[in-house]
Amino acid sequence: MNEEAYTDDEKELFEILEFLRETYKNTPTNNDKEKKDLEEYINMNQNLEDSLRRFANVRYERKIAKENLYKNRFFEFYEERCEHCKHLNNLQPLREEIGNLELTYYVFKCVNCNKEFNGLHNTDEGFITWNDHIYKLMTEPHPDGGTLAHKAKISPQEIKGMKQRIDDYKETVRKEKEEDEVQRKNDESVAENVRNAIVTYTLEKHKLMSGNKTIGES
Ligand SMILES: [Zn+2]
Repeated sequence: MNEEAYTDDEKELFEILEFLRETYKNTPTNNDKEKKDLEEYINMNQNLEDSLRRFANVRYERKIAKENLYKNRFFEFYEERCEHCKHLNNLQPLREEIGNLELTYYVFKCVNCNKEFNGLHNTDEGFITWNDHIYKLMTEPHPDGGTLAHKAKISPQEIKGMKQRIDDYKETVRKEKEEDEVQRKNDESVAENVRNAIVTYTLEKHKLMSGNKTIGES
């Protein structure tokens, strides 16, 4: 368990829960029913803390994995074709630059011709924007008739394939964003539950400390 995984609210709640557990563990009981109620209460309290800790740790691992993906992007290998000699390289980027349409891309050094060349756009948004841009250029009717695709002898079939690949890519990115959003809402609702629990259990702690609270009353 990593302490960094927990929010301040969660840490505060865990302290209150622990205080309540420890206090109730040392509370004398009058009969079996009271004893059983007390044990159930302590279990419930512990289960709440355990499940919140598990949730927070999964959330934390997800965050670290995302950060690492970004941090390690210069150490990953990318398959990119050299624009000079057309050699297909599998390389780590030298650096990142900003080019046309304010989009970022990696710069590589070709192992075949030793020249530097630019890779494809290295973000989802960049990839989509760039391909949309190219597609538009290719298919827009020219004032003198025809399209760039036609002039470049790119078949309608190839253009259709290009459009399909762009659309598929957009759909994949859309789904990923949707999943992120579900996750974000879930995290938010847990955070709200934690805040509510702090209020409830703090009240209970105060009652307990003022000596007028017994199990089963609330
Ligand atoms: Zn090359």
